[in-house]
Amino acid sequence: MATMMMETVVTCPACGQKNRVHATMDGRQPVCGRCGAALETAPAGPVTVTDANYATVVAQSPLPVLLDCWAPWCGPCRRLGPVIDQLASELSGKVTVAKLNVDENPRTAAALGIQGIPTLKLIRDGRVVDELVGAVPKGEILRFLQPHLR
Ligand SMILES: [Zn+2]
Repeated sequence: MATMMMETVVTCPACGQKNRVHATMDGRQPVCGRCGAALETAPAGPVTVTDANYATVVAQSPLPVLLDCWAPWCGPCRRLGPVIDQLASELSGKVTVAKLNVDENPRTAAALGIQGIPTLKLIRDGRVVDELVGAVPKGEILRFLQPHLR
């Protein structure tokens, strides 16, 4: 699709703010005007959560956060990955979809009480309000999210 757009509107993956992003950014990473998160000009993907950014990206998110707790060696987690990518794009602006590598971020994994992976945690106003364990089909994840969508 070749359009002549000089600027695009990109929804911040962290806070849902719509930002105008100029096409010619001379290679600089555009950031959200409200929360400072990096903006992707490609379709929104999941936000990577770490021990370092959990407080900013998850605990202070104005949107509900669907947090996929995973690890690279976990087969079911890898099967769930593409579904999480789709949800991030489809639910952009409604739910922040994020991924936590539990091996690399043991502090957050322990704080969340992760027992097994994959685990999907639904976090609202910094509190875990629901969870779904296992590599479940996309339809089940959408049903799980439904009561939490505004
Ligand atoms: Zn933002």
